[in-house]
Amino acid sequence: MNLQCRVELGRLYKAGSQIARVLSEDWCARELYCAACSSEHLLASRSNTPAVDLTCPRCDQSFQLKSLKTWGQRKIVDAGYASMIRAIRSDKVPNLLVLQYSADWLVRNLILVPSVFFSETIIEKRTPLSPTARRAGWVGCNILMHRIPQDGKIAVVSDGSVVPETQVRGEFSRVRRLADVPPTIRGWTLDVLGAVRMLGKPRFSLQELYELEPHLQSLHPKNRNVRPKIRQQLQVLRDLGLISFTSPGNYEVPS
Ligand SMILES: [Zn+2]
Repeated sequence: MNLQCRVELGRLYKAGSQIARVLSEDWCARELYCAACSSEHLLASRSNTPAVDLTCPRCDQSFQLKSLKTWGQRKIVDAGYASMIRAIRSDKVPNLLVLQYSADWLVRNLILVPSVFFSETIIEKRTPLSPTARRAGWVGCNILMHRIPQDGKIAVVSDGSVVPETQVRGEFSRVRRLADVPPTIRGWTLDVLGAVRMLGKPRFSLQELYELEPHLQSLHPKNRNVRPKIRQQLQVLRDLGLISFTSPGNYEVPS
C-alpha cells in the first residue's frame, strides 16, 4: 500500500475541503481493498446516493469517506440528521472510513467503522440553521466517535504504518454478525458492548457492569429496566461470540 496521495489532482480546486475530498477519494480507489470480502479494490461511487463514496465491486458493501487534517476528534460533522436516523432504522448506513492526511498528503491514519456500529446513540442532533441561512431550519448531525466501542474502530493505517490486511479482515468479520441483530435492538447491544469496553478488563462481573448503569441510563433516558436490558444484551453478545460466560455472573472478553 502506497500511502502517498496524488497531489497534482488537487490543482484544479481552490477550497481545501474539496482538495482533501478529491485526493483522499482517489487514494482509496487506488490503494484500498474491501475488508468485507477478498476484493483487492474499491470503486469510486458513481451512484446518486450522497453518503456513498466507494463501493466494493464484488460484495456491494458501500463506504462513506471522511478526510481530516487532525486526528482523535470526539465528533465528526455529518449530513442531515433526519436522513441519518432513517438510514439507521432501515439498516442502510454505509461503512465509514475516517482518514487523516499529513501536511505533505501522506495517509497517516485510517479507521474503518463497520456500518453495524451506527446506532442512534452515536448520532448527535445539531442546532438548526438560522432563519437567514440559505437552508434555513435544516438540521445536521455529528457522529460521536467516542461512543463507538473500540471493536467498531478498525485500524487500517495506524500512525503511518499499514496494518496487515488479514488482521483488518479478521476484525471486520469478528463483528459482522452484529448485523443479525435487528436495528431496533442493536443500539442496546452496542451500548452494552461499549460499557464492557469501558471497563477495560479481559474479565468482568455483572456487578461491575451494573456500576455503569447511570451511564447506560443516560443513553436511554426513557428506559426504566436498565439492569434486565444489560443481562439480556450480555446473552446477545455471547451468542455473537463477542464475550463468553465463565461462571454465573462472570464474563470474559476473548482477545
Ligand atoms: Zn467486498
